[in-house]
Amino acid sequence: MAGLAEFAREKGVKYFMISYTDLFGGQRAKLVPAQAITDMEEDGAGFAGFATWLDLTPAHPDMLAVPDASAAIQLPWKPEVAWVPANCVMEGEPVEQAPRNVLQKLVDEAAAEGLRVKTGIEAEFFLLTPEGDQISDPYDTAAKPCYDQQAVMRRYDIIAEISDYMLELGWGAYQNDHEDANGQFEMNWGFDDAMVTADRHSFFKFMVKSVAEKHGMRATFMPKPIEGLTGNGCHAHISVWDLDGKVNAFADKSKELGLSDQGRTFLGGIMKHAEALAAITNPTVNSYKRINAPRTTSGATWAPNTVTWTGNNRTHMVRVPGPGRFELRLPDGAVNPYLLQAVIIAAGLSGIKSKADPGPRHDIDMYAEGFKIKDAPRLPLNLLDALRNFDADEGLKAALGAEFSASYIKMKMQEWTAFVSHFSQWEKDNTLDI
Ligand code: ADP
Ligand code: MG
Ligand code: MG
Ligand code: MG
Ligand code: MG
Repeated sequence: MAGLAEFAREKGVKYFMISYTDLFGGQRAKLVPAQAITDMEEDGAGFAGFATWLDLTPAHPDMLAVPDASAAIQLPWKPEVAWVPANCVMEGEPVEQAPRNVLQKLVDEAAAEGLRVKTGIEAEFFLLTPEGDQISDPYDTAAKPCYDQQAVMRRYDIIAEISDYMLELGWGAYQNDHEDANGQFEMNWGFDDAMVTADRHSFFKFMVKSVAEKHGMRATFMPKPIEGLTGNGCHAHISVWDLDGKVNAFADKSKELGLSDQGRTFLGGIMKHAEALAAITNPTVNSYKRINAPRTTSGATWAPNTVTWTGNNRTHMVRVPGPGRFELRLPDGAVNPYLLQAVIIAAGLSGIKSKADPGPRHDIDMYAEGFKIKDAPRLPLNLLDALRNFDADEGLKAALGAEFSASYIKMKMQEWTAFVSHFSQWEKDNTLDI
């Protein structure tokens, strides 16, 4: 296999970013000169794991981030640099809780069952002023701003630059639009293997933030950056294929909505574990201001409130837009790209194994008539509820790996504690004169 040194020679790369993603979705990198890459490619770049969110201590040995050369991407906006996602290793063993390792293990488990999970994601984002407190375009004020032709063209320079880069990288970019909130955009590219999508999702966030900064703006994927406006979702479209990637095992025209029995049980697994997997798909305090939210100024939040599914209708947690795939609308912009794919595979495989039934579909407007479905489980109302649900879901914890699950719950509980011990103006306003 041609290595990274060869990659550098061919493409004129001077530096490699050896990059890994921690439990909170932070991307951490070392910049390694091409002259030094051959040793690093084999041994990995050294990091003090405790300095990032990985549930390690200062006493742990060095963690090595071993680059996956097959996934290297030359930065289209700075071609002398290439980004390479890496796998975390300590004393010769994979770091169990490192997100890319968690996903690799689940991809391997799916392969052992003869399955190849393919996904596409929709990572919505806002373009804000550099301070992050206002929408960058002062004229972007329409009450229903979705698909706003004038507003998307005012941001043409950024959107087209990113779209051109995706085309150059061969991602199959196919559309870009202004989304449902003022200042919000979405850019779509083709679906692919779960690991490829996770790497592209990570790189997309890096690219959008970098290009926005270049243009004097700040891009955010925060789930609900502006009160009252639609939040940043990160919907995932899911199908499962044979190992050659040629036959879509989810497609069966003779079945309800064109979803095969296997697709139905995979969906059953997602439904069964939904209240727990929200701890991964909606991982921040702010995430719970997007789901279960009051109506936005545009008329709808477009985010789910209940664990329900339907056909081509965007008011439920799962939509089946057409035969052979379904869309999970729960994840938000804060989701860790690797853990998103991992939790989909973990819940889906458990559904296939247990022949899980997704229950009846409800073809109603959930925002208007949701009260009619008495037994629909509600999504967690806050991060603490989600973490407790996850902690109580032994099946999901085991499927994701016991070490990972324990580390994740521990680190996220610390985050929750930091949040609730923070003194807020709300408390003063509501308690001072009690
Ligand atoms: P919408 O806004 O209607 O939900 P988008 O066009 O924005 O849909 O995004 C659809 C995503 O679904 C894209 O990433 C696309 O590549 C992906 N997709 C399409 N077909 C499949 C499939 N069979 N399996 C997985 N993903 C798919
Ligand atoms: Mg040092
Ligand atoms: Mg979309
Ligand atoms: Mg959207
Ligand atoms: Mg969608």
